[in-house]
Amino acid sequence: MKTVKIISEGINHSAIDLGVLNQLIDYSYMHPKRHQEVKGKVFIGEILKSTSAEISFTVIPPNTSIPFMHQHKNHEEIYVFLKGCGQFQVDNAVFEVSEGSVIRISPNGKRTYRNNSENPLVFLCIQNQVGSLDSFTVEDGFLAEGTILWDK
Ligand code: ZN
Repeated sequence: MKTVKIISEGINHSAIDLGVLNQLIDYSYMHPKRHQEVKGKVFIGEILKSTSAEISFTVIPPNTSIPFMHQHKNHEEIYVFLKGCGQFQVDNAVFEVSEGSVIRISPNGKRTYRNNSENPLVFLCIQNQVGSLDSFTVEDGFLAEGTILWDK
């Protein structure tokens, strides 16, 4: 089983390397509720020591459907499709997804997806506490004093 490589850590950051997207299938994860190994999925929130987001990368092999729908208790999900194409269902809406598709789903949304193509479907999913964002765009950022080390 492939493990995530940590490339830099400090009091204010964690940086990892997942490797190339074409080898995501080498990761696997033991589902704690279904007691089943899920190949091609890696969760990185805990590895990154995140306090605000759970993030996972998933590859769905060609012609593969997820045989159940799921909802969340408190987390809004954002799916970002990176490679391939497939279909997504939220409640009674079914739509096509492919590289560049981004979906936000409220906790109550009943969701599932399938790869109905001949190529792998790759996405990342970000989970955050619903209602936790207090501003959009660049409102939260500000300029900082500091030395840019590669300019020295
Ligand atoms: Zn979910």
